[in-house]
Amino acid sequence: MVARAKSPGRREIAETEVCMFCERLRNISALADCLVYEDELFHVSHQLNEEGQTYLGSVIIQARRHVHDLAGLTEEEAARLGSLITRSSRALKNCTGAGWTYAESFLERYQHVHVIVTARYPSMPKEYIRLAIRKWPDAPRGAHAEVVELSRKLRSNMSAEKETTQPRS
Ligand SMILES: [Zn+2]
Repeated sequence: MVARAKSPGRREIAETEVCMFCERLRNISALADCLVYEDELFHVSHQLNEEGQTYLGSVIIQARRHVHDLAGLTEEEAARLGSLITRSSRALKNCTGAGWTYAESFLERYQHVHVIVTARYPSMPKEYIRLAIRKWPDAPRGAHAEVVELSRKLRSNMSAEKETTQPRS
């Protein structure tokens, strides 16, 4: 076992520890129902609580490659990630009635680049803003079937947008 220098406030994943984001991509068929978008660089899916209700309107954009932090992205990945944050935000606004979206990327526990884009509903009371958003008791939530249906809407919204902005040659 190699001793590693620790940087304050940041925890390295041990060699033996599994990266949850790499694991998600290894079991990609489990994400098929919640798939929103995928290409050779990124995978976008709606979050899903296997047990109980799920906040409606929260997608995870994750790099396919195990890359530790935003500074480690290639220029191509960086450009694609920026575009996907915007396109996911548009799809969430179009499909959920969100007023705008939150985008979070802490990369604290799992150092594998991912950005969570979440619908910020206009009716949300002020006490639940920012990181308290998921504590909002009256937030729009849904069971598995509703999450799958919203994922389908987001997927078709994003693919329709792609066809209008990037016509096939
Ligand atoms: Zn990983």
